[in-house]
Amino acid sequence: MQLAQYSWLDEPKRKIGTNLPPALLMYGVEGVGKRTLALHLAQSALCEKASFLKEPCGICGSCHLFQAETHPDFKMLSNDEVDTSADEEGAASTKKVKQVISVKTVRELGSFCYTKPHRGHAKVIIIDPADNLNQNASNALLKNLEEPPAFLHFILLAKHSESLIPTILSRCLKVHVRAPELAVTSDWLNRQTSINQIEEHKKELAIRLSGCAPFASMQLIEDDAFFVNRDKILALLSQDAINAFTLAAFCEKIDAPILQRIFYPLLHDLLMADLGGDIVFHKDKVSEIQRIKRAMTPKAVTHWQGSFNDYLKSANHPLNRRLALEALFLKWPQA
Ligand SMILES: [Zn+2]
Repeated sequence: MQLAQYSWLDEPKRKIGTNLPPALLMYGVEGVGKRTLALHLAQSALCEKASFLKEPCGICGSCHLFQAETHPDFKMLSNDEVDTSADEEGAASTKKVKQVISVKTVRELGSFCYTKPHRGHAKVIIIDPADNLNQNASNALLKNLEEPPAFLHFILLAKHSESLIPTILSRCLKVHVRAPELAVTSDWLNRQTSINQIEEHKKELAIRLSGCAPFASMQLIEDDAFFVNRDKILALLSQDAINAFTLAAFCEKIDAPILQRIFYPLLHDLLMADLGGDIVFHKDKVSEIQRIKRAMTPKAVTHWQGSFNDYLKSANHPLNRRLALEALFLKWPQA
């Protein structure tokens, strides 16, 4: 895992210093490259040839095992996989990822933390996303962080440092991984061969919606459905008479985080259009924004945003998502 192509990760790497600390927390927006940097650090720490400051050699036995994801001295803890096939009517037997890292998962680390490394002199555990450690899991992790053996290194990744409990935070070296400037992300995207030629406004929109985070921007660009859904919602809202039931039926198929990514920028630009500010997220849709805005007051926009926030909070466990969405769109401010 070479870092040279991710110039914005140099700064956080420098801040870590000359050695991997016992506990490192790297935080920053989704898709900024925290996991890429963490994997690089882990491979460097385990490499038999390179020093921690250099790129891992990529050819030693340790590097080979790491790249094959079978290194015995490395562990990645992520969201729990739970089998939800039993409670989903008619669904295929698929494992669904639960948005939590449970105490069971942390406890399963067990002897890994205390037995000597199989190779070399280090063991590395990455926890991603550490935001999702629940209270019990945090307490279990804290036990491992209190008196770690010298060979053990934890790398915690989180969107926000505040989402970790203070007793864990105080034991970590905290490094903020910042998103680069818009132009840097834009250049980096231009160099990605996996991305086909894209319209400039679409690229800029993806970058802005992702807070300039490069990997998140790339994911959005590759997600054709996102732009199709956004355009369809704008079209439905631009009509003379808004049909709450049609909107609800369409939005029911779209996950709440995606709806949030469509509606937050829309509400922002509706307010901006009213206040005479810059339309940032809908430069390609200015006439639609003007039509949607019509007689909407800023107060009505912020009021609906409150209802939308309530919907998002309940979206993970709605009794009937369609009904909740119908109620939401019946509140859409109309002249
Ligand atoms: Zn190596």
